[in-house]
Amino acid sequence: MATYLKEYVRTHGNVKHVFYIGTDGVIIASNIESRGVSLGDRAYFRKGMEGQDALELIPEGRLTGNPACVFSVPVASQGGGPGGVLAISVHLQSLDRWLRESVAHSDSPVILCDTQGFILAPSSAVAAGGGPGKARVAPALLATGAAGGAYVAADGREMLGAATPLGRDGWRLVSDLPVTHVLAGYRRQMRWVFFGAVATLLVVLPLVLRLSRNIERPLTGLAAYARELHDTRYAAACPVARSDGLPREVAELRDAFCQMSGEIRSYVEEVERISVEDALTGLYNRRFLFSGGRKLLEASVRAQRPCACLMLDADHFKVVNDTYGHAAGDRVLAHLARILVGCVRKSDLAARYGGEEFAVLLTGATAAQAAALAARFRTVLAGNPCRIDGTFLSVTVSIGVAEARERVEYGENALEDMLARADKALYAAKAAGRDRVAVDGA
Ligand code: GH3
Ligand code: MG
Ligand code: MG
Repeated sequence: MATYLKEYVRTHGNVKHVFYIGTDGVIIASNIESRGVSLGDRAYFRKGMEGQDALELIPEGRLTGNPACVFSVPVASQGGGPGGVLAISVHLQSLDRWLRESVAHSDSPVILCDTQGFILAPSSAVAAGGGPGKARVAPALLATGAAGGAYVAADGREMLGAATPLGRDGWRLVSDLPVTHVLAGYRRQMRWVFFGAVATLLVVLPLVLRLSRNIERPLTGLAAYARELHDTRYAAACPVARSDGLPREVAELRDAFCQMSGEIRSYVEEVERISVEDALTGLYNRRFLFSGGRKLLEASVRAQRPCACLMLDADHFKVVNDTYGHAAGDRVLAHLARILVGCVRKSDLAARYGGEEFAVLLTGATAAQAAALAARFRTVLAGNPCRIDGTFLSVTVSIGVAEARERVEYGENALEDMLARADKALYAAKAAGRDRVAVDGA
């Protein structure tokens, strides 16, 4: 039997001794010479005799005098009763190695202990705790169980630990760490999260501010522009320039706004032009003669400059219409207006008074100067007959001249007074035979 036992030890590197103990507690066979040695007082032997497996850490082995870890199993006799105990003693270094390899990646030292908390491995922990049979893990750590838990160590530190049972006999793998150590990683992570958030804010905040300024500035400009348009200052230019700095939506808003205001401006200008212009001749109309003419006359009075006017009426125009048709008459009127505009200055106001009658306001001119202009106009008109379908059509005009004066005899104001007197002079010219100039008061 000893031969078998020796062979077993030779082929199992972790095993130190194998021995068979008889029912009287005395070794019957062993891989080394130990016959007669009594182990009847060992707890593992007693358990084996009761039919139970056991393991026990022996501080001082009876065969070698060294610490050992003994596993034992009961042996049944042929009759079925207790037949002794078979025990295996394992090298403690084997436990160290097993422990190292099994829990190589653990952060905290891992200790193997029995159910009582007596440390089995690593040997360094056994030695630190006072040797086999004395070194123990704290009962509070052992009590944390497989689920783990917090406990207070003997030195007062708060610890987190776990005691995981191994196998059916209840050895424990225990490990613990100070709570501060466990939380260190979490705190480090929180610091990174905090610094990350601050850095993100520092990077993002200027961008957000820039973006909001890029939006706010053009919108403020567009709002001011809208107020200008609302106050009917349609000539105001859009204050927001089309630049790359504008966000796309704001640039589109600005373009749509400028286009819309441009269209409004051109519509308004068109309406304004139509409201003061005579459609047939392109001269100012009668309404503008009275509104614009009044301002011109007032400005002349303020500047203490003279102001005169002409009232013109085409002679026998009914005949033109009757002879050549209404359309030809229209063209003659337009021709007449063109020649009239060519004879006066830009600052003068030439208007169609109505029908085939015209009025011209001459700023800075006396009655004599106005009469001279009227004469020149007649000469130019006579030299430029209107050509219609190869036919030259000559018309003459009768012209009345009047100069503005302070005293208002006719109408409501100086302009109406001057136009009324020019009209009277015009009738005088008609009465005198037409195709001539008559001056008021002359
Ligand atoms: P007088 O020398 O006395 O001014 O004679 P007249 O024929 O010019 O004057 P009258 O008042 O009898 O007739 C004015 C004519 O002018 C009649 C009218 O058909 C014509 N007339 C007025 N307005 C227009 C117009 O817009 N187009 C055309 N073709 N004719 C017009
Ligand atoms: Mg007339
Ligand atoms: Mg006429």
